[in-house]
Amino acid sequence: MNQPASPRLPDEPGVVAPPVLALEGVVRAYVTAAGTLTVLNGVELTVKPGELVALVAPSGVGKSTLLHVAGLLEKPEAGEVRINGRTASGLNDLARTAMRRRDIGFVYQFHHLLPEFTALENIVMPQMIAGLGKSEAEARARQLLGYMRIEARADHRPAELSGGEQQRVAIARAVANGPRILMADEPTGNLDPKTSDHVFAALDALVRQSGLSALIATHNMALAARMDRAITLKDGKVVPAEIA
Ligand code: ADP
Repeated sequence: MNQPASPRLPDEPGVVAPPVLALEGVVRAYVTAAGTLTVLNGVELTVKPGELVALVAPSGVGKSTLLHVAGLLEKPEAGEVRINGRTASGLNDLARTAMRRRDIGFVYQFHHLLPEFTALENIVMPQMIAGLGKSEAEARARQLLGYMRIEARADHRPAELSGGEQQRVAIARAVANGPRILMADEPTGNLDPKTSDHVFAALDALVRQSGLSALIATHNMALAARMDRAITLKDGKVVPAEIA
């Protein structure tokens, strides 16, 4: 049984890299006045490095719950969440928060930008909180605004940006600290179809260029079809989704 270890091929990092995200037997239930509502009931899911996965399901089925558990914002009642091969369940709150800040970027349906700061400052701030110097953080923020094609809006406050521009800034902010995976909950849900298309194209280009993985909840089947694969939730479990 003394077989030599197979060599690691430099052009095939995915062969040896662990999944960026793995959910194993994940259960999440809410206790309500009407009884216990089990939203996730044994979820199995892996997202590989560089993979873009669409999460499509009707409202109320559990997309946000899945994203919150996968993104370490909520703890499951049972099962394991692994980020980059590292388990989250044994970690205390401080270590979970550190893992979330380092490895996970979040984008919501509403931008959640700080209203009194400019687009640039909104992207600089999380980097400085993570310990980066101001000039380095500004350089990266400008680069990200460039990737998102809104460098001309760097000095605008959120109220001076269109809905699509606000979401572009929110996406740039979410990836500012170089996470391993971007999780987005209906990131284009508030936008008209054309703007939604442009914002998604910018997100797609950013994710592909940076080798990031992404798990994106969306109602938009055309966008879902442009991702590497689509999943849905059925009876509390993740199953492949049919995209027409
Ligand atoms: P989706 O994102 O697909 O719309 P959610 O994950 O937000 O679905 O919610 C799934 C189900 O869990 C819904 O029926 C919702 O009402 C319920 N739910 C979500 N959060 C809570 C909570 N904190 N307490 C009780 N029920 C909740």
